Amino acid sequence: MDRTGLCREKHAESLSARYEASGKHIAIASPGLGKRRRPSCRPATGLKRRGGGADLSSVDVLLVEDDVSIAEPLVRGLERQGFGVRHCETGTEALEVMDHERADVVLLDLGLPDVDGFDLCRRLRAASGVPIIVVTARGEEVDRVVGLELGADDYVVKPCSFRELVARMRAVMRRTAVRTNEQATNIGALSVDRRTRRVNLAGHELTLTPKEYDLLALLVEDPGAVYTRQQILDRVWDPHWYGPTKTLDVHVASLRRKLGDPAWIATVRGVGFRLQSPDDVN
Ligand code: CA
Repeated sequence: MDRTGLCREKHAESLSARYEASGKHIAIASPGLGKRRRPSCRPATGLKRRGGGADLSSVDVLLVEDDVSIAEPLVRGLERQGFGVRHCETGTEALEVMDHERADVVLLDLGLPDVDGFDLCRRLRAASGVPIIVVTARGEEVDRVVGLELGADDYVVKPCSFRELVARMRAVMRRTAVRTNEQATNIGALSVDRRTRRVNLAGHELTLTPKEYDLLALLVEDPGAVYTRQQILDRVWDPHWYGPTKTLDVHVASLRRKLGDPAWIATVRGVGFRLQSPDDVN
């Protein structure tokens, strides 16, 4: 973003924060909100719970918002509604969290201190199918269009009411759930859902890291086919990844452990790996 855009964003955000402090919008004023708390990622109720489906009360939210006067009342409000909330104040923290945990929906502020919000949106979308709602002071049409084209599922302009935001979250989750049913791939007892990035084994949902999921999602594209180590590194990691290929073996090992049977991922010595149902092997 250019300097002008940044200034516009900051100005708009300070305006909206003041407006919102009037009470009925996202940032509800409360004592001490002006004070900055520690800058790191704040696990609230966390993103650990899995499951979900139609039960929206078990939805885990990743909130990426650097303005604590907006974030804190929003976190409290969402928690009161039964959502699990993880709050990050920077894009870097958000990417780290998404690398190790999963969220059901991301609320993403575009004006962040460390990375461009649009860039973060694109990176989150590249790494995950998680629904993303951009929540920002940038209300111009061009910003909305860019946000949606970069993979955001919805776009909310601050200030907006808490009720509207929750309604939009529910709508996004419903749309996601509909797409879920269309996009699952089943191999034996294993079901991999590309849209929601959920994996079920014999009816139980597995907790995978984003990279473990990406690896499994690649192998599941063509069950039984051998994927070379280079193919996997190019597609699951960065095409310009020149780091140790041991990373791949570590992820294969952890995925096998989570699948409960090493036979799910067969090693083709000197070549790569292939996915197969243990039932077909034995
Ligand atoms: Ca901001």
